[in-house]
Amino acid sequence: MQGKVALEEHFAIPETAADSMGYFPGPVRNEVAERNADIHGRRLSLMDQYGIEMMLLSLNAPAVQGIPDKARAHEIARRANDYLAEQVVKRPDRFQGLAALAMQDPDLATRELERCVKELGFRGALVNGFSQLDGGDSIAYYDLPQYRPFWAMVERLDVPFYLHPRNPLPRDGRIYDGHPWLLGPIWAFGQETAVHALRLMASGLFDAHPRLQIILGHMGENLPYGMWRVDNSNAWIANRNKWPAKKPLGEYFSANFYLTTSGNFRTQALINAMLEIGADRIMFSTDWPFENIDHAANWFDTCAIGENDRLKIGRTNARRLFKLGNA
Ligand code: MN
Repeated sequence: MQGKVALEEHFAIPETAADSMGYFPGPVRNEVAERNADIHGRRLSLMDQYGIEMMLLSLNAPAVQGIPDKARAHEIARRANDYLAEQVVKRPDRFQGLAALAMQDPDLATRELERCVKELGFRGALVNGFSQLDGGDSIAYYDLPQYRPFWAMVERLDVPFYLHPRNPLPRDGRIYDGHPWLLGPIWAFGQETAVHALRLMASGLFDAHPRLQIILGHMGENLPYGMWRVDNSNAWIANRNKWPAKKPLGEYFSANFYLTTSGNFRTQALINAMLEIGADRIMFSTDWPFENIDHAANWFDTCAIGENDRLKIGRTNARRLFKLGNA
């Protein structure tokens, strides 16, 4: 399929380049580092080759979220955003930007998002899970009350917020002790991000700000497979699930979330996601440079779905959500 839009696509700046390297064995590390540093070279030729018209670019992970010093986190976010804006200006027909934000300081994050959208023309934000604070030991999830003014700004600017994975801190990830292979994209990323998304749903955030739109990668971090049970576990026990939100969580999932295919190129999983959230709320992505553009495109271009759905998922949903025009 020609004209695809992809939106979980990363780059690194020198200050964050080392962050993503832990998952890649020696020889692959150089390959990933080169991919991460490139925007207009090999990346663009692969986009041409595999029918990707546009990438929305975001900083690698955990990057800003893993910097406990608020001022330093904000400085790296600004540096990355300014660099990204310079790259987008060179090829605005092929690249657009998603903001990195130092959520360690909700007020700074709010102002940086506003700057990125209004001054740099970015289309939204991508944040790598919880933020570390106070020397790195305390962490903040974005359902907490101090983030409500931030979310009000996201809603006011009418831009989507991509909740991207990171690993739990070692002290919170003891279930993985002795099994380091479970960390990262294999399992821990999805687990961590799905719980964060459920926290947002249950907190009442979407009652207060019903127009917010959150994007989850990797075909929804396993949530399409689990949302029914979240609302219906032990349904024979009256009033069992107590949360501040006013509705069953599946209703927020269907109204306030989009999913992407990043790193999860599996037709069975896509069809399950289409049955749960609908083809209007799924968007093509690859997760370059950590996954491969050819794997994503070769699968998506031929997977057994209807052509109207392929067009929506591959292109028009993203163009509508990010206001990229109707072409
Ligand atoms: Mn990613």
